Amino acid sequence: MKPIAQIAAELPGYDPDAMGVEQVAAVLAQLVEHPVAETEEVGIFDALGRVLAEDVVSPIDVPAHDNSAMDGYAFAGAQLAPGQPLTLRVAGTVMAGHTFAGTVAADECVRIMTGAPMPPGLDTVVPHELTTPAAEPGHITVAADAVRPGSNRRRAGEDLPLGGTALARGEPLTPAALGLLASLGLARATVYRRLRVAVFSTGDEILSLGEAPRPGAVYDSNRYTLFGLLTRLGVQVIDLGAVPDDPARIAATLRSAAQQADAIITSGGVSAGDADHTRSMLHKLADVAFWRVAVQPGRPLAVGRIRPPGVDAGPGALLFGLPGNPVAVMVAFLAFVRPALLRMMGHTRAQPPLLRATTTEALRKRPGRTEYQRGIVATAPDGSLQVRSTGNQGSGVLSSMVRANGLIVLESDRGPVAAGEVVDVMVFEGSM
Ligand code: AMP
Ligand code: MG
Repeated sequence: MKPIAQIAAELPGYDPDAMGVEQVAAVLAQLVEHPVAETEEVGIFDALGRVLAEDVVSPIDVPAHDNSAMDGYAFAGAQLAPGQPLTLRVAGTVMAGHTFAGTVAADECVRIMTGAPMPPGLDTVVPHELTTPAAEPGHITVAADAVRPGSNRRRAGEDLPLGGTALARGEPLTPAALGLLASLGLARATVYRRLRVAVFSTGDEILSLGEAPRPGAVYDSNRYTLFGLLTRLGVQVIDLGAVPDDPARIAATLRSAAQQADAIITSGGVSAGDADHTRSMLHKLADVAFWRVAVQPGRPLAVGRIRPPGVDAGPGALLFGLPGNPVAVMVAFLAFVRPALLRMMGHTRAQPPLLRATTTEALRKRPGRTEYQRGIVATAPDGSLQVRSTGNQGSGVLSSMVRANGLIVLESDRGPVAAGEVVDVMVFEGSM
């Protein structure tokens, strides 16, 4: 694997102090080309959110037989004449889960329930409400032009044909996909192994929960936002705690992380002005690049790879050194870390699209950097999507992140935004 400095240096116009968000994405795309190699078979109740490592080929036709889409009467549609009602004798009834044993003559129909197999030779169903009892007992009349030949019949294999690809490798097992698996009679699926992601915070000022407050110290929030974001992704989180600015402790924690995890996320201590040892230790133990990204919030970013001690080959664990500010951590995670982890997990599906909303107020924006502003997206009375800012955009202000239900993504070229302009929004639904 190429050293990260070399990958980065090949980017057109590479400047480590002015990385565009697209450039960061381009380096990450080269660092993570393949999903984790290992796969496993899981039972359907353990499969939610996992990513398929193999195509699922349908072992049956779904539905298995032609069946009725309605409660009504099945008959041979060839008898229908335009503008004419049709009177038929009811020869019997077929319920869902049963087959009709009798034979049906030309001028007869069979009362049929939704999902019941079509009796042989019959191809059309008229819903109950489009019929009336006929004068002659045991007969019904189909209203003129109520249905056409073939109406309300579901074809065998119409949902999934036997031998067809029902679900493709790289698709996440959503609730709908679980239902689809079950509809094929499949109780298990082959998925990529669950990703292991180690997280630790750095800084002398960081207090772990349970520690007594002291002057100048702050409680660690980054480990908990990251825990939440990672858990939503369905990865296994390895919490390595808060580590003070002590070279030996940082080195030991990094080594331990590299032994256990596919990816490592640290927060704090990566900005150029930082006096701490995180930067130098990352530099010493990992193949890492330190960048200033043209993004707000979340400017300082370290990206690289680290091999466990004693291992000289293989790519090692992916490493993200995120800034310390709590909102910057979350934004950097959503913008850079999450897409890379999804690829490692085996996802091939494109990221959810950004939505477009009208801003109800002016937004401050400087050209030359991508800005992620906390926003509240709502549907206006006319049905259009509107967004407003949560106000204070300070990169440490977590309370406004809590109030937000999405990020307003303002592209680099853009200057100040006037009320009424259309902006992109990344809604949190599903990720946060
Ligand atoms: P740094 O990037 O290390 O210079 O940190 C920037 C700011 O984020 C400082 O005010 C830190 O105290 C704060 N910070 C760093 N790590 C954390 C953390 N884990 N939880 C909450 N705040 C943090
Ligand atoms: Mg610091």
